[in-house]
Amino acid sequence: MNTLAPTDSAAVRRANLSLVLRYIAAHGPCARTEVAAGTGLVHASVTALVADLIERGLVADAGGVASGGRGRPRRLVSLVPGRVRTTAVHAAWGHITVMTADLAAASGQRRQFPSVRDPFGPPNALADDIVSAVAALDPPRAGVHQCRLVIALSGPVAEGNQDAPGPARHASHLARLVADRLPGLACPVDVVNDAKAAALAEYHALAAQDSAFGGAVAYVKSDAGVAGALIVGGRVFQGSHGLAGELGHIPVSLDGPACRCGAVGCLTTYIGTRGVLGAAGLAVDGDTGAALAELGRRLQGKDPRALAALDRAGHALGAALQSVTGLSDPDRIVLGGQLADWLPWLRAGIDARLGPRRAAFPAHSPTVTPGLLGADAALHGALAAGREQILTDPAVVPKLT
Ligand SMILES: [Zn+2]
Repeated sequence: MNTLAPTDSAAVRRANLSLVLRYIAAHGPCARTEVAAGTGLVHASVTALVADLIERGLVADAGGVASGGRGRPRRLVSLVPGRVRTTAVHAAWGHITVMTADLAAASGQRRQFPSVRDPFGPPNALADDIVSAVAALDPPRAGVHQCRLVIALSGPVAEGNQDAPGPARHASHLARLVADRLPGLACPVDVVNDAKAAALAEYHALAAQDSAFGGAVAYVKSDAGVAGALIVGGRVFQGSHGLAGELGHIPVSLDGPACRCGAVGCLTTYIGTRGVLGAAGLAVDGDTGAALAELGRRLQGKDPRALAALDRAGHALGAALQSVTGLSDPDRIVLGGQLADWLPWLRAGIDARLGPRRAAFPAHSPTVTPGLLGADAALHGALAAGREQILTDPAVVPKLT
């Protein structure tokens, strides 16, 4: 006998609801007949599922178009702007940035606040700053479902393992502190690693431009810190403890500069902002913004010491990418943060390191490319994580009546 148990049929309905919402999100405004053809569901099921999504306020009637024959005009449905809101917070060295977006990925508000907190310092103080930043935005209005608050944090975050020691405990503790300080929020609070969030956002942005984009992709960024991620099959590869892709402390020389981690010759000492500025002869007094702007001017002016600093960084990055390539065989390496801006001056050093291997294995030479999203890449990734939760299970959004 081939019957579904009630729990199975409920799971199938939720999965089909997700299928229909994803189709409308990607192709709307569209008619129910298009949804049926695009999802493979029968028309009657699509009609019932669309009615369910309308009751939840997620989609709405978008008018009609002539059917092309003598039949009735086709009624179109589309996403309802602003019905669902995700809030993303990027807690980095020097600032906290907050951004909101709805299900259609339309950005709402974005504000940046200075912060002196160490993202991995005492969590109480950081939680206070995050709560102040979130509270400074307009609170969600009636009829707006706040689905997620996602905090993208600089530093290692062992996701999905809240009982683990070290950074994981800190992250889950921070999520609880923020949730306790925002009792009216009434939605889950997640803490994710900012490099992994940025990597996923860049992956989707690049894939939207290039249909051939895919496979394994490595991401490396340098801003306040050096970090990275590996994406395989469209998902972040977490490793055993959620720490895969943390490239900052890959050794690139046996006798290089001392690193704050206790080792010597780590990648971060060569391509980290302070390492590059120091090599270029630029003193950093507090905020690095002014020194970075001066470095940009000197690079444009072909200042020999600035060019040498970037060439040195390029060689170090190329050496690290050799290791990454040997380990994970990526098709594409995406550079984020300052590395995206510096790529024209890093390129020669990177190519000098990757070149010999390219000659030996031409089919296995990854393309090195700058990211598209700039400093907000982590925020876009965090917002996408919240949006994905609703697209996967639209039934978490309550019905309006
Ligand atoms: Zn180190």
